[in-house]
This record gives sequence, C-alpha cells and structure tokens, in this order.
Amino acid sequence: MARTILVVEDETTLRETLVDALEVEGFRVVSAADGRAALARFRAEQPDLVLLDLMLPELSGIEVCRIIRAESGVPIVMLTAKDSELDKVVGLELGADDYVTKPFSIRELSARIRALFRRSEQIAAPDTTLPSLVELGRVQVDLAGHRLLRDGNPVAIKPKAFELLAFLLRHPGQAFTRDQLLEHVWGYDYAGETRTVDVHVHWLRSTLEDDASSPQFIHTVRGVGYVFRRPTEVATRRPRRAPPRR
Ligand code: CA
Repeated sequence: MARTILVVEDETTLRETLVDALEVEGFRVVSAADGRAALARFRAEQPDLVLLDLMLPELSGIEVCRIIRAESGVPIVMLTAKDSELDKVVGLELGADDYVTKPFSIRELSARIRALFRRSEQIAAPDTTLPSLVELGRVQVDLAGHRLLRDGNPVAIKPKAFELLAFLLRHPGQAFTRDQLLEHVWGYDYAGETRTVDVHVHWLRSTLEDDASSPQFIHTVRGVGYVFRRPTEVATRRPRRAPPRR
C-alpha cells in the first residue's frame, strides 16, 4: 500500500509541483493550503508523513507542528525559506524530524523523506537473550508459558495484553507510537483505534506497577507513545551513604 504524504504549502505553484513530484515517486499525496486546513486534512487522512511549510496563513507551521506532535508521532519535515539557526531550533524543539530550506531540489527532498521512512520503520531486532521468566518487581512474566504471575500466583491476562507486554519487553528502551504497536501486536489488518493500545497499557500498568500513576516499567513518551524501561539499580535500591572521608 502506498504511503500517504500530507503536503502543506500555501504557495500554489510549489504545492502543485510537490504533489506531482511525490506522486511520481510512488506516494499517495494529499495537500492543504493553510494551517487550519492542514489540521483537518491530517486528522481525516492520518498520513504517514507531513511536509509542512513554516509560513502559512491561518495557523503558522510552528503551531501546526506543535498540535500534530501532541496528537501523533508522525514524521514531520519542515519547509522553510529562512535558513536561520533559530528557526531550526524552534522547529526541532517542537518535534519536527527534519528541515529542508527553500529552494530545494525534489531529489534532495525525496531522499530525506525516504530516510525518515526508513528510520520510522526501523525497529531494532528483538532482544533474544531474555530468560523465559522475566521478573518485574512482584510480577513474573512467563514468556514461554504465556502466563503472568504475581507473587507466584497466576494472573488472568488477555492474550493481546500479554503480547503487548512481551513485545515491549523484547524491545527495552525503544519508544513506539500507538500505530506501531497496533501494527506489531494486533497485526497489519487490524482496523482498531489507537485507543485500544492505551486501554491495554492502562491494564498492564494496573497489574505491573505498584503505583500506576508513576509507572516504573511502561513509560509514556509525550508526543510519541510508550516505552518499556527497567528501573535502574540506582532507582530501585536505596542509595548507600558514602563512607565518611578521613
Ligand atoms: Ca508559505
């Protein structure tokens, strides 16, 4: 299935050129000519990447970037006529993934887009060194037996919740978007909503965590999704007081 790119550019000629060129590259392209239309289009189309002009009518590219980033981990490439360091810093802080300064060649832009797609697809090889029984505080995850135990007693767990946990355990430290988790745990054809992921994470937290409001294992990454981390030794053990110096 062709990937969808949302092109947001108010300059008609440039917008049309980008749409045509990216279609030739094999992408499905949708477009918007101002910031408000861009958000509506983004929500309706759920594109795989957003090309976002900085200077836009209605809502600026910076505003649009901030709003999209609050809703999604989609790769965003900013198009800017200003080649100033300041804009780059502001945009990257808001969560843009890359920058292209006008004027740019389609070839260069297309190479950047492909690089971003590769990056967003790259999911590190799973950690195959995991023991079949993983201890997470009071909970034991029996990967081989597909069971969850709490203080040695089996806990009822939905198969998908278990698969989600196992997937996260095998990719420690790697943040995933809700879409990526849906794709990898529920499968490519699953037509569910990303809210499904939140519901399962909520359930896992209430089972795994001593305090679900400040999770130790499954963390929320703002603007992206979720990541599994093992609490560090330092965080789980009481700090030992240094011996007094003589
Ligand atoms: Ca513009």
